[in-house]
Amino acid sequence: MKIIFFELEQTLIDKGRLIPGVVEVLSKLQSVQDSHNEVSELALISCNNQENIDSDKRLNHFHSIVKDNGILHFFEPLSEKITFPDNGHKKISENTFRDAINKIRVGLSYHHTIFISANQSHVTLARSLGMTSIHYKGTVNEKAEIDNLDDLLALINRLLLYSPCGKRLNEAKGFTISHSNKSKKIDSEIKSITERVDTNQLLENITKLTEFGTRWSYSPEISKVPIWIFDQFQRIGYSIEKEIQYQPFELPNSQPQMNVLCGNKDKDMIIVCSHYDSISETPSFSAPGADDNASGVAATLELARIFRNIPLKRNIMFAVFGGEEQGLYGSAACAEKASQEKWPIDVVINLDMISYKQTGALSKIIVEYDQGNKNSNNDAAAKAFGLTMAQAATDYTSLEVAHTDIWNSDYIPFEAKGFACIGAYNATDNPFYHKVSDTIDKIDITHLAEVVKMVAATILILGK
Ligand SMILES: [Zn+2]
Repeated sequence: MKIIFFELEQTLIDKGRLIPGVVEVLSKLQSVQDSHNEVSELALISCNNQENIDSDKRLNHFHSIVKDNGILHFFEPLSEKITFPDNGHKKISENTFRDAINKIRVGLSYHHTIFISANQSHVTLARSLGMTSIHYKGTVNEKAEIDNLDDLLALINRLLLYSPCGKRLNEAKGFTISHSNKSKKIDSEIKSITERVDTNQLLENITKLTEFGTRWSYSPEISKVPIWIFDQFQRIGYSIEKEIQYQPFELPNSQPQMNVLCGNKDKDMIIVCSHYDSISETPSFSAPGADDNASGVAATLELARIFRNIPLKRNIMFAVFGGEEQGLYGSAACAEKASQEKWPIDVVINLDMISYKQTGALSKIIVEYDQGNKNSNNDAAAKAFGLTMAQAATDYTSLEVAHTDIWNSDYIPFEAKGFACIGAYNATDNPFYHKVSDTIDKIDITHLAEVVKMVAATILILGK
């Protein structure tokens, strides 16, 4: 279940009067289903607070405002669906959000909530807690990410259908420990190729990616990132005529966006993908995204480097997507094209957040494989690929493996189109994710190298 919070003032109501178009938006949101086929709860937060007012009186006051404007039926019972900052304050605090969530579902994680506000500092706070937050212009006269109700509705629909990478492991479905035992015979060629994974190269690329400062999709400089990625594929030796290409896609209210694809589609193929965009509490200033997801992009580039001259029976396409954090826009555009053009994809391997582990802890990784989701006829293939990856980890790396379902990342649009999908993901929740503190000093490069070896060995097992 998700909760969609609106800040009442300047988002739905201005000077006591309803903003035109709001009823239509709320009506539509009331019936739209999320990725788990559930409808969301709608709720309000109001900062038009008064000091020393009795809480019943305050509720009655807002009851009449909401009722007079014809939107009470979206928020009943109002006592549970409207929350005010403590003690007559006009500023939202973490407590305000926690109270607001607990009134509807005690203990629900912040990342199951969407908060829409015209107040930039409230949006920043919500994001710092892990909420998905949209800075909507409302009736405020300053620049915002979304400036009209149609785009706002489209974006909320998108976020309900395609959640970006806000994951907490205890919410993953289908958790099992891998039972892979080390094979009796280790392939010496696979072993020697996996040993080409270069930690310095990984470190260098993560450093470069974090040095963009922010890779937020709405950053005016976002196009520099795909250009840099394109250049890396070229530098490795791939052909700009035959192999590397930009794939444009649209993200509402933003400049044109680009994925970068590198590979051929003329025989059965493996897609190795990751997203380059990042987010934080204050993404217009800083969003280093070292683990989320410079780690996945650096891994993709390192695999591209290693496999540049290795002949395989399957092609590999390396795909680096944008627009993930806004609702999987880049990967959805690619999956759409892949489906329309019937790309011969055997498996999609998604790499999103793969470099975090606690100091001194064992190297563990989650190998995700599709267990249901939109299609059931691709599950068996996904499981077989996932088990192959677990075996590769056991035979060629020091990683311990557990499995879960795939969720909240770029493989989801491919799964919806029927392709077999697996992924790698941190086995320890990263406390710095979606924060300005997701910096390079928090990640473990040796651990990341093991994950890259695991993917390389998987590709070799599938490709030889
Ligand atoms: Zn991510």
